Amino acid sequence: MRCHVCGGRMEPGEGDMPFRLGPCRIVIVKAMPVLECGGCGECLIDDPTMAHVEDMLGQVDAAAVLEVLRYAA
Ligand SMILES: [Zn+2]
Repeated sequence: MRCHVCGGRMEPGEGDMPFRLGPCRIVIVKAMPVLECGGCGECLIDDPTMAHVEDMLGQVDAAAVLEVLRYAA
């Protein structure tokens, strides 16, 4: 797989990704599996991982302003 920004190689890794759920709601998911470009640092999340994270985000307390989750498959 090639980076869509610089054409470099995308390597599997882990990252902490912030997701904004609303004007004042942010969820940080730690240790997410991502593909990271060795050239420019661009991160990609594949579709199955994204679908799983959306499930996790759906279970976050609606009153929370900032929530930090650990990715669990
Ligand atoms: Zn790149």
